[in-house]
Amino acid sequence: MHFHVITIFPTMFDSYLSESILARALKEKKIKVSLYDPRQYVTGKYKKVWPDGNVSRIVDDRPYGGGPGMILRAEPVLKALEVALKKIEKSGSGKVKIIHFSPSGKKFDTAFAKTTAKKYTDIVMLAGRYEGIDARVVKIAKTFVGAANFSDISIGNYVLTGGELPAMVLIDSISRQIDGVLGTYESLEEERISASEFYTRPEILEWKGKKHKVPAVLLSGNHKDIEDWKLSKKA
Ligand code: SAM
Repeated sequence: MHFHVITIFPTMFDSYLSESILARALKEKKIKVSLYDPRQYVTGKYKKVWPDGNVSRIVDDRPYGGGPGMILRAEPVLKALEVALKKIEKSGSGKVKIIHFSPSGKKFDTAFAKTTAKKYTDIVMLAGRYEGIDARVVKIAKTFVGAANFSDISIGNYVLTGGELPAMVLIDSISRQIDGVLGTYESLEEERISASEFYTRPEILEWKGKKHKVPAVLLSGNHKDIEDWKLSKKA
């Protein structure tokens, strides 16, 4: 699976992708992540060269019709999207999905992660910023891949500052559905009944003069009782 993220903050991904299961998946080439910064494609009056040689690349502008906040301009985002799609075409990959992040989109869940991992070879994600991306990007993106291969996705009923965290959430969750990304033990754990309460050593935790014990059922050795207890505590 190749993830492509259109973001004006590509370095935000460095830390998350360089640790743990995702770092291993990248190293073993089970997944690939490419980042495309719309700022690189800013031209014309939005690109300013200052006397000291510094360059400002402005990716936002005021909303038509008024209102608070700024809008991520269509042109640099579309150019970045075009670069991503050309790269996919060149690599000869099969099925492409485009995902646009929006707090009012379809709620992301494991079922979506599973079908997406199965059906597609490349996922292009549009991470919004400011008040969001100019709506024409979504309309044009749909014509690139067809409406059936386009989704507006929300990761929850709250408003974040940008689409970078949602992109990382999807990369993480979808990657876990790709063969070989999880080790055998991790895969087994994924399918097992999981509880919302977990305990490890010591059996009795002494904290500020008080003793905190592990629930007796977990020490009983009775697998049926343990699974029933886990079910009762299932998140
Ligand atoms: N008022 C805007 C709206 O309702 O769409 C809020 C925009 S938010 C500050 C900026 C960007 O963050 C959005 O365009 C979207 O890409 C992303 N975002 C924020 N919350 C999100 C959520 N819960 N799920 C997915 N993306 C989200």
